[in-house]
Amino acid sequence: MILYRICERAHVLESPRFRMHDVTKGTRRNRNSYTRLSISVGRIQREVLVTKCCNDLLPTALNLKTMNYQDTDKCCLCGSQETSEHILRCNHPTRLHWRRKAIHKMTKHMKKHNVEDSIADAFCSCVTDWLDTGTVHASKYNSRYHRAIQSQTTIGWRQLFMGKLSQEWLHLQPHYKDKKGNNRPAYIWGASLVEASLQSYIALWEQRNKDAHSPEAHIHLAKERAAKATRKLFRLRHHARFRDSSLFPDDVETFIETSTAEALQRYVVMNSKAIHKSVKRASTAATQHTRSIANWFRPVRTPPAESTPHRHSQDNLVHDAYSKKKRQKSQRVSENRTLQPRLRGYLSLRQAL
Ligand SMILES: [Zn+2]
Repeated sequence: MILYRICERAHVLESPRFRMHDVTKGTRRNRNSYTRLSISVGRIQREVLVTKCCNDLLPTALNLKTMNYQDTDKCCLCGSQETSEHILRCNHPTRLHWRRKAIHKMTKHMKKHNVEDSIADAFCSCVTDWLDTGTVHASKYNSRYHRAIQSQTTIGWRQLFMGKLSQEWLHLQPHYKDKKGNNRPAYIWGASLVEASLQSYIALWEQRNKDAHSPEAHIHLAKERAAKATRKLFRLRHHARFRDSSLFPDDVETFIETSTAEALQRYVVMNSKAIHKSVKRASTAATQHTRSIANWFRPVRTPPAESTPHRHSQDNLVHDAYSKKKRQKSQRVSENRTLQPRLRGYLSLRQAL
């Protein structure tokens, strides 16, 4: 069953949409491909790991964090988010060394099956381009390879290391001659290329595990965790009392950069309690002299506004007796309304409503 899943995923693809109906129909070509890949996977002798590689199920830092098995999703070498693509494209020197070895291995496998040098060169250049920049521009290459490049781009160049090679590459050289001079079909060199890419990916994963569990990686992860806790405390700076500003570093990033993991852990342990206490006191002090906003909604009895003699005489000049009476009344109401106490003084930025 495992072998079937591996070969189902790892067989040389007929189309970018991963059509599997040819495999289930059991055409002669795909049966041969299936057999060859079964032998290849048998040679690797890592069935469970190959199944995980082909199905993108490797426990990367991002996957482990998503499943709550660890609290960081960072690459132990460079600090970027570790996805399966990042493992392949990480620019740490150890990964660059792996990159050169992987390309060399693919070239070797293609030469072993007498694949044309131009095809091997174009293929390896495309893989190098993708590993270096993340994209492959077909316009850089001869028009002969455009179809294969576009097809592989549609499938995904990352998928190449998971056993998914476009069939278009094989159409570039449908036959080759083996050492004895026999004519052999292209799927044999295709299967060999898939085997080489899978073996390289497995070697990379093993290297990654060594890096992730090395003492240096543990120190790096410990510093990441301590830096995270330090930044969290630093964000409370504006909520703490001003007199406690000495509890915080002037520039948190410089402080993290220049401190060891132990120094950061010590800072967090020694200051965490004091900072939280300061925030609590600042909050209490901000609200204790503030009146409750409920008072603002209570009915306010204010004396009617006294009309000034000057204004009264003005009204006499402008209005007649009847209309003056109404106007005074409406004016008094509006003045009463404006005497509602101002909202300022009832509220504080730190008041819990
Ligand atoms: Zn990295």
